Amino acid sequence: LLIACTDTQKQEQEADESEKITPLVKDNDSIRIGFSMDTLLEERWLKDRDLFKEAVESLGAEVEIVAANGDDALQISQAEALIRSGIDLLVIVPHNAEATAAIVHKAHLAGIQVIAYDRLVKNANLDLYVSFDNEQVGEMQAKAITSIVPKGNYVFIGGAITDNNAHLLKKGVFNVLRPYIERGDINIIYDQWTKDWTPANAKANMEEAIQTSNGKIDAVIAANDATAGGVIEALAAQGFAGNVPVAGQDADLAGVQRIVNGEQTMTVYKPIQMLTQEVAKIAVAMAKGEPVPTVKKVNNGKIEVPSVLLAPIAVNVRNIESTVIADRFHSSEDIYKDT
Ligand code: BGC
Repeated sequence: LLIACTDTQKQEQEADESEKITPLVKDNDSIRIGFSMDTLLEERWLKDRDLFKEAVESLGAEVEIVAANGDDALQISQAEALIRSGIDLLVIVPHNAEATAAIVHKAHLAGIQVIAYDRLVKNANLDLYVSFDNEQVGEMQAKAITSIVPKGNYVFIGGAITDNNAHLLKKGVFNVLRPYIERGDINIIYDQWTKDWTPANAKANMEEAIQTSNGKIDAVIAANDATAGGVIEALAAQGFAGNVPVAGQDADLAGVQRIVNGEQTMTVYKPIQMLTQEVAKIAVAMAKGEPVPTVKKVNNGKIEVPSVLLAPIAVNVRNIESTVIADRFHSSEDIYKDT
């Protein structure tokens, strides 16, 4: 195990013996990966769980999966239990980008490397970050919507403030909107985070946007399909659904169905299988003592984290077939079942 330790890990080990978790002694034959997930209450993360398990097992390794369903304290204690159980490497989807730094620290004290999966852990000596390019996700959304509505009143329904991806997405959205705003073509009449990315919180925000603008809304960019669903419910209650372009993310089945029904304009498809295969391959290699790949660097507030960023794909009614259906992300029967 010590062979896999970096200098920073060694320093951490020396600095803080009192917090140290002593892992169980395990057999050295099989590699065991721990997967600490934020939540399994959303469609996309069920896919991540199933495909990651499949990918790790296809490499002859084992995976132990836990989910905290949005509870920071629970995510920390679950990760501690994984460390104690003698995993060889920890893969984490943080609920809270900052709070999970404690987990990285504790894993390192036990000589275990940590990979951030999809979401960055901030202010920690993270070993690797693998995700999609989340800034590009936001840019794709804003490009799609500005091509339809180059002028008018825009609403931005952001993701969870505790999730670094929500910040990256917002940055991407505003990279594209900024010149329109500066020219006075686009007015941002509402801009709010959505606690825990839930449809109910997004709906409440959208109701507020409708109320404060007297319904004068020309376009909405929502941070994902779950929040877009909440937005569209609020629009539908006023008879606006289908008249106001709405962007989302994830290619959730419900999101793709809304695109087909004309209620949602676009989504951003992120091939989850690519992510799971990439993380599984690197995780197993690192657990065997192979070096961390250094493709790109992303600053997490503490260090330049070695990172792998995959390419997202913009999806609208015209390319559903060649993207999500061709990849078997969803079947056409499921997508068109209510049409
Ligand atoms: C992910 C999105 C997801 C959101 C809510 C983000 O970190 O990148 O794909 O919709 O979390 O779970």
